[in-house]
Parts: sequence; structure tokens; C-alpha cells
Amino acid sequence: MERTAIFPGSFDPFTVGHENIVTRGLKLYDKIIIAVGHNTAKRYYFSLDERVEFIRAQFANEPRISVEAYDCLTVDFAIKKKADSILRGLRTAADFEYERAIAQVNRLMTHIDSVFLLTTPEHTPVNSSIVRDILKHRGDASKFIPNTIYQLIKQKEKAT
Ligand code: ADP
Repeated sequence: MERTAIFPGSFDPFTVGHENIVTRGLKLYDKIIIAVGHNTAKRYYFSLDERVEFIRAQFANEPRISVEAYDCLTVDFAIKKKADSILRGLRTAADFEYERAIAQVNRLMTHIDSVFLLTTPEHTPVNSSIVRDILKHRGDASKFIPNTIYQLIKQKEKAT
């Protein structure tokens, strides 16, 4: 039986920390759907189309990964996609408390379990909001963003 997980997030932008979770997730699942969230109440640095485009380009050669936008409840998207689990990364105790409540509520509502992978130590401090700040100030964020995505971001910066 094929095992599928969705890996939901804002990915604004997708970082090497996210990439690490996806790569390790591929050892646990046959397919991973990277689910790019769109919340109208939130302001994003990169548009939904850009975030989807970047991640698709990064995994263009990995047929087991697909990338989709969604704007419904994460559990509803998981059910729609016939996923077995929701994959998430855990960096800190604060992440744990936040994720615990969401995962438990999701489990009360549905049969969907959340599966957590602990961040590798070198990726623990990497988070999208710090990376956004570096990009805003035209700093060097190349260590924190997968290379294909970084090149696309640089091309866009040059074009604006
Ligand atoms: P959200 O707004 O849903 O938290 P993010 O894009 O910030 O979306 O994160 C998506 C997932 O990736 C979350 O499970 C988050 O904990 C995880 N994540 C974020 N940064 C890292 C990192 N550096 N290492 C491992 N996991 C991470």
C-alpha cells in the first residue's frame, strides 16, 4: 500500500530546514505532497504562485514529490488527497507546544495523524522570517535556501 504524507506550511520562503524534513520524509513515505498554505488574513513576502513555482523547480527531478496550493483546513486537504499523515518539523519546545495542540485537535476531528521529525541541529536556527529579513535587506541568504530556489529569487530581484 502506498503511503502518502502532506507537508503543509507557508514556505515564505522554502528553506534548507524544510528541504531536510522533506528529504528525510521520503524515507518514510512513498509520496509527499508539499501543501503551500494561503491564508487571506496573512501577508506574504512571496506570492502563492511564486512559492509554488520555487518549490516545484527545486523538486522537478523527484517524481515522488508534488507541490500544491491549498486554502482549506489542513486536515480537509489531507483527506481530499487521501494522505495518511501530516508531516511537520519540530525545532524547539515552543514549536512542540504549538504543534501539539493542532495535531491533537486534528486527530479529534479526523483519523489523520501528525508525524513529527526533529530538526537536524544545524537547521534548528533556520526560519523563514529571519531568511525573509536577510532577503529584504539584500543580504546573502544562500546558506539557508536550497540552491535552485535561491537562483530563482536572485533572478526575480534582478528583474525588479
Ligand atoms: P507554518 O506557517 O505552517 O509554520 P512554515 O513554512 O514556517 O509554516 O513551516 C512548515 C513546517 O516546516 C513546520 O512544521 C515547521 O516546524 C517546519 N520547519 C520550519 N523551519 C524548519 C527548520 N529549520 N527545520 C525543520 N523544520 C522546519
